Amino acid sequence: MAEQLGDVVVTIPTVAGAVEPAELGRTLMHEHIFVVDPELSRDRPGEFDEPAEIERARRSLRELKASGFDTLVDMTVIGLGRDVDRVRRAVEGTGMNVIVATGIYTFGALPNYFRARGPGTANGGEDPVLEMLLRDTRVGIGGTGVRAGVLKCVIDAFGATPDVERSTRAVGRAHRAVGTPISTHSHAPSRSGLVQQDLLASEGVDLGRVLIGHCDDTDDLDYLTRLIERGSYLGVDRFGLETIRPDADRVRTVAELCRRGYAERLVLSHDASCFTMNYPTDTRQRVLPNWRHGAIGDTFIPALLAAGVTDDQVERMLRGNPAAFLGRTDPY
Ligand SMILES: [Zn+2]
Repeated sequence: MAEQLGDVVVTIPTVAGAVEPAELGRTLMHEHIFVVDPELSRDRPGEFDEPAEIERARRSLRELKASGFDTLVDMTVIGLGRDVDRVRRAVEGTGMNVIVATGIYTFGALPNYFRARGPGTANGGEDPVLEMLLRDTRVGIGGTGVRAGVLKCVIDAFGATPDVERSTRAVGRAHRAVGTPISTHSHAPSRSGLVQQDLLASEGVDLGRVLIGHCDDTDDLDYLTRLIERGSYLGVDRFGLETIRPDADRVRTVAELCRRGYAERLVLSHDASCFTMNYPTDTRQRVLPNWRHGAIGDTFIPALLAAGVTDDQVERMLRGNPAAFLGRTDPY
């Protein structure tokens, strides 16, 4: 059944065409399929065997679908080796809905291409960051015709550097122009989700249409409560990434937020990849055995239920909240 906004039927773009919010099913809101450095993979043969990794990704996505998950948001953007055509080939035939993001992944400076263009630069012209975001969400990414279903902005431990601020503000402007929801990478230990909220709010963004990512990297409940009380969704999206925080602590934080009545503002994910050049696959499987797309289904849902989270809350975090967040796409 179609969700209605006025008389407009809401659809959400995926690499295999548009779907309606009711078709999303259980959704992982912050994942990756391939994280590849294109220069290093060209010059270091053997690091990334593309045909083999596409095949491996396909198997893994089929298993995820068979385990009861229907949708995955691939948060790979410029700076993480985004290749939407490669993603489309990996997803083909798996039955998964895969939504892709647009944005620029940087903790400090933008690529020089962007720094040298736009208002106040020698090349002048419109802001190419905003231009790219508008094109990727309205027309499609590169020549693929695949539109981004999420706008991503990034702040890490260096805080809001001038370029991080520039790209965050461009995301806010593109969001208001196109309506595509905003999902972020934040650095919870330095409470930078609040900085993202401030910057986006000053661009007139409704913070209820923003998902602050990587919130389970902290046990600072005062910080997390403040983010929620300003209306945003929180990404509990690094299950299995125990090099940053133990899983037992992540589970405890989610259970406490649910106990306080905040399940309606949480979404769950792993921030895992089918393939990442940053961790050789055998190291990743040995050191981080639960940093994989199937772990919420087979390991973390049972752990959350044992910690007092209810079945209804789990479904809310995996289905209801993603559909409400991704399905709200009216410009304003
Ligand atoms: Zn990520």
